[in-house]
Amino acid sequence: MPTAHSLLNSVFGYPAFRGAQAEIVEHVTTGGDALVLMPTGGGKSLCFQIPALLRDGCAVVVSPLIALMQDQVAALTEAGVSAAVLNSSLDSATAYRTERDFTDGKFDLLYVAPERLVTPRFQELLRRTRVALFAIDEAHCVSQWGHDFRPEYIQLSVLHEQFPNVPRIALTATADELTRAEIITRLQLETARVFISSFDRPNIRYTIVGKNSARDQLLHFIRTRHPAQSGIVYCLSRKKVDETAAWLCAQGVPALPYHAGLEQNVRALHQRRFVNEDGVTMVATIAFGMGIDKPDVRYVAHLDLPKSIEAYYQETGRAGRDGLPADAWMAYGLGDVVQQRRMIDESEADETFKRVSYGKLEALVGLAESAGCRRVRLLAYFGEHATPCGNCDNCLNPPRVWDGTEAAQKALSCVYRTGQRFGAGHLIDVLRGNDTERVQRFGHDRLPTFRVGADLSDKQWRAVYRQLVALGHLHADAEAYGAFKLTESARAILKGEINVSFREDAEQPRTRHSRSKKADFVASLGNSSSDPLLQALREWRRSTALEHGVPAYVVFHDSTLEAIAAARPQSTHELRGISGIGEKKLERYGQALLSVLGQN
Ligand code: ADP
Ligand code: ZN
Repeated sequence: MPTAHSLLNSVFGYPAFRGAQAEIVEHVTTGGDALVLMPTGGGKSLCFQIPALLRDGCAVVVSPLIALMQDQVAALTEAGVSAAVLNSSLDSATAYRTERDFTDGKFDLLYVAPERLVTPRFQELLRRTRVALFAIDEAHCVSQWGHDFRPEYIQLSVLHEQFPNVPRIALTATADELTRAEIITRLQLETARVFISSFDRPNIRYTIVGKNSARDQLLHFIRTRHPAQSGIVYCLSRKKVDETAAWLCAQGVPALPYHAGLEQNVRALHQRRFVNEDGVTMVATIAFGMGIDKPDVRYVAHLDLPKSIEAYYQETGRAGRDGLPADAWMAYGLGDVVQQRRMIDESEADETFKRVSYGKLEALVGLAESAGCRRVRLLAYFGEHATPCGNCDNCLNPPRVWDGTEAAQKALSCVYRTGQRFGAGHLIDVLRGNDTERVQRFGHDRLPTFRVGADLSDKQWRAVYRQLVALGHLHADAEAYGAFKLTESARAILKGEINVSFREDAEQPRTRHSRSKKADFVASLGNSSSDPLLQALREWRRSTALEHGVPAYVVFHDSTLEAIAAARPQSTHELRGISGIGEKKLERYGQALLSVLGQN
């Protein structure tokens, strides 16, 4: 009789369980119900896959996403586990055969779409089959208030009613309390044990930069940190997605667009290329991402501000699922705050909803403007306490915070004297004393604020206005094309009743604080991409994946290839010690790997 740990070694090739995995596996294997809250990349799948192998019968896994199911089944099959999918993508002959094999007990795991699971026909199959457990993946789909709501998920309560003795494990990466409570009541998991993991993603480095020329900043980021690696760039509009993708291609970055306006087959093709190929950048609206299981996405970049911290965290969470270093990078500017506020203002929603939306946006703007550790702030938002992480922009290059009271007074007074009818561009011309046609036309060169701000650059004034809006001292009027209006607190600043401080937008990363860590990191990137052995291993993986018709990471993860390149194993025995090489893969690929190693 194998143990959980021996299966972890022999089937999956991993030396040890992570976090709460061991406890969860033990609990479910012995027949307990569980609700598992774990961040993306935390390792939820093993929590039901190993109990599925340990318990008698076949585990039935409910998952809302066809692509995700197929990926998991491909990975399990590669590892030598007997698993199958049952969803609408199958022709009826294949579906029939799969059902028969299922009732004949040929599988250890069967992945089923929720709409199929709740049909009377499938319920009947379940009654004729020995079911090891039910796993309900992406369990937050049961929440009517969430954006991934799937009505069929509500009917999953029949599982408990019809099969009270089969253990159930529900899993999600959605953290908030409300969703958790809803999962428990709707799926009747009141007596289930709840396992909550930390939502920290320590391998993700958070960076938020002030927007100047966002595209160039993005290109610089990609070229210096992630040349030839996979990443996602999020934009708000379809038009911007198309333009950015085309521009990146012209600059030599292989990029593909993805949004709901593209033909279905084009979208599918782009998604497939992104998943299967190494080093493709997907430029996308938020229509892209849900259910993308690609573990080696090295960065997620935002060219526009998301709606909330939840959205930001979910989107950035798609980076680095394999645990290797990854970046979450965002360029953020005044226009973003104005635009998001306008979208809320102009939406059809009721007042309560608008108020909640403003609050959520404010929290995100607070994160973007913060001079403290980004991770501490993110985790605090989800109710977790943390200490400064050493792996975000603010920890690595603490921003200078300066007393901006006088600058704020000049900026606000300029708004006031020009009649609260202008946006940042013109106001900055007045402050800096630029003699533009517009300045002339309105006679603003005769104002006392004309040229009082020549000491700060255009860019610095832009950052000042952005922060005044972010801090609520100015209101950008949507109806007047973003003209600034003073708020109550602005008057207090003008009267000298409150002081303001601003964070200085980093120009170039200053190296003094961070040289060692950062240099190490960059060096490690450089090494890994220039190591000929690693390149040969990647090349071998690419052709093998093509041959087997699976994504490259299903053959081996980057982390496994890197471990091989570092250890240079010389025998099957030495290969066995590498994380990510189980018995089946050793048998299947061991010789090929050793011959690649022999030639390099
Ligand atoms: P989730 O579903 O929580 O997003 P996955 O189950 O896809 O995460 O796991 C994320 C990655 O971590 C996968 O590549 C998986 O193979 C790997 N992984 C999971 N558990 C372990 C472990 N104990 N040791 C090493 N790698 C693991
Ligand atoms: Zn930090």
